[in-house]
Amino acid sequence: MSICAWTVLGLKPGADGTAVKRAYRRLAMRWHPDRNADPVATERFKEIRAAYDQLLEAEPVDDEEEEPAATEADSEPTPPRAADIRLNLELDLVAAALGCRQTIAYVRGKDCNTCAGTGKAGMVRTRFCPACHGSGRVRDVERVLVQCPDCGGRGFFSEQICPDCGGSGRDAYEASLEIKVPPGMLPGDELRLAGQGEMASDDLAAGDLYLTIVIRSHPLFRLSGRDLLASMPVSALQLMAGGEIRLPWFDGFLDYKLEGGLPERREIRIAGKGFPGRGRNPAGDLLIELIPVFPRQLNARQRKLLLQANAALADTLAESLPEIDAWQQMHLPS
Ligand SMILES: [Zn+2]
Ligand SMILES: [Zn+2]
Repeated sequence: MSICAWTVLGLKPGADGTAVKRAYRRLAMRWHPDRNADPVATERFKEIRAAYDQLLEAEPVDDEEEEPAATEADSEPTPPRAADIRLNLELDLVAAALGCRQTIAYVRGKDCNTCAGTGKAGMVRTRFCPACHGSGRVRDVERVLVQCPDCGGRGFFSEQICPDCGGSGRDAYEASLEIKVPPGMLPGDELRLAGQGEMASDDLAAGDLYLTIVIRSHPLFRLSGRDLLASMPVSALQLMAGGEIRLPWFDGFLDYKLEGGLPERREIRIAGKGFPGRGRNPAGDLLIELIPVFPRQLNARQRKLLLQANAALADTLAESLPEIDAWQQMHLPS
């Protein structure tokens, strides 16, 4: 750490983190180009920011450093802000697809005023070390007296717990927020709620709240990108004969005209009926895998109707059942 950084912040070398933070906030308020029209303000603010970063590298005042650096280097510095809050927002698949209103509860806060977020303020209290009962020595496994590892041999702890925050350093509140989730949010998409992050204080604007969408698993549908996938059992006879079938679709259904064909697994795709589109991304497709199911039981009437159908097929044996026709011609005398 250079002396220069301390000087820029108007501090004595070695001042603690709280003092650095305070000095930075005070100077940032004064010199931030958004607040100060003086042409030298931008340069001055950059110096202050650089000095602060140098002295408190491990303790960023906001999360700008986490953003991709490429754009930030050229842009104007933003006003000092409290930290952002990042949470997951769990949604049902249908709610995410169609959009919904959600009430979210979370804890937001700000640095405790009394201790400036350090958790330390007020009287220094001394507490005897419970491990060594204040002697500074304990017996190790071989019953030899050694220095107490808990208190480093001092026999007591000095504590300076802020009375206003109980040492947490934070002034925290339960927040409840009703939000509107637009349709078509995919897992991993983020919602940003400006100003709903950590709270504003004297010299900081409020941070933002970021909600990352998590979609609960659905008993029927799966997502692949924006395609909506499901499988459904269909009567083998229906697969052969075709006709109107009803496909599952979010909370409802779609009527679909099925082509007749072989009683085999078949996938049908309905373009644009999957997960809704969003921004430049178009809606996905609905993909339903049809799984043939053969009748387990037939009553007398059903058997009769099937025999009638079978007899009707025999009338066009060469076209309908060509393998049987060929076999019969070869092996059964007519
Ligand atoms: Zn406090
Ligand atoms: Zn001890």
